[in-house]
Amino acid sequence: MGGFDGLIGQDALVQRLQQAIISGRVAHAYLITGAPGSGKKTLAMAFAQALFCMEDPGRACGTCQDCRRIEAGNHPDMTIVPPEAGRIKIDQVRRLKERFALQSYEGSWKAGIVVGAETMTVEAANSLLKLLEEPSGQAVIMLLSTSPSMLLPTIVSRCQRIAMKRIPRQLIASYLEREFGFSPQRAAVVAGLADGRLGQAKEYAKEENLARMEQILSALAASEGRGLQALRLAAELDADPEALEFAMQIIATWLRDMLLAASGCPQDTIVHQNYYDKLLEQSRLYPMAAIRQAVWQVEDAARALRANANRRLTLDALLYQLADLNSSSRAKEVYRYGKSGGS
Ligand SMILES: [Zn+2]
Repeated sequence: MGGFDGLIGQDALVQRLQQAIISGRVAHAYLITGAPGSGKKTLAMAFAQALFCMEDPGRACGTCQDCRRIEAGNHPDMTIVPPEAGRIKIDQVRRLKERFALQSYEGSWKAGIVVGAETMTVEAANSLLKLLEEPSGQAVIMLLSTSPSMLLPTIVSRCQRIAMKRIPRQLIASYLEREFGFSPQRAAVVAGLADGRLGQAKEYAKEENLARMEQILSALAASEGRGLQALRLAAELDADPEALEFAMQIIATWLRDMLLAASGCPQDTIVHQNYYDKLLEQSRLYPMAAIRQAVWQVEDAARALRANANRRLTLDALLYQLADLNSSSRAKEVYRYGKSGGS
């Protein structure tokens, strides 16, 4: 698979970039934004291939030497700048500038991909700004960011914005059936959890994540629908923030499914269709408003954790809130959690 083939549901963006190459109007800088796993890097790499590829200019053949070296991340005229220990530092931007200042090795293009651009230190950002202010010849910089609002406005204003689209669930599901050989049912669940992001779907489709998903779903089905048991399971996954986010995504979709089931939505709008009867049964235990609130609480907590909030405090607060779904059992639940999982 080469070039833009690794992307689905981004046709308009792909066409726009291909058109820019074919018509010779490639911008000096692009800012590619989207949630984690939405395909920002895949798009940037495909764009670089399309720039460099001599076999199929503008589209990328995926098999020539340029295409393969870009995919492997070792093309001499392409530089990838990832955060190191969570930050992009000025030295990394300086190295990028040095490479941009050199004669290009082969083709005439130079490309730089800055991954997690919002993690640039102030010094790094100012240094990059100078590069953006003095564009040189056939060079293109792609900034990838999940949180573009954290970038300097002066940087943003020098970039063409490209926002990754959320991909319809059905498109992701058929991709999983095709590429992973998933049953339609399993594909629908993973696509539902991925929330419009193909990269996330591929991540969730890994063996160990599927096993974890089953574990969490059984806990949800066995408990009284508040996600407490599942959250405790999640809290045990202390070392792995991504696993925790995955677990919270499962709990959020479970609670949302309860609402959908209770309001008589068609079964195919539900993520965890396997558990339809269970969802319906659990939805009768609580007022709709309380379930809706629980969805928000889980989503808020997930956002807070992504923004590096204190993990233990956030989870404790969430457990407390979810226990409150049924206030009569609140004290008991918190007590029990305190004994088994808290610290
Ligand atoms: Zn090629």
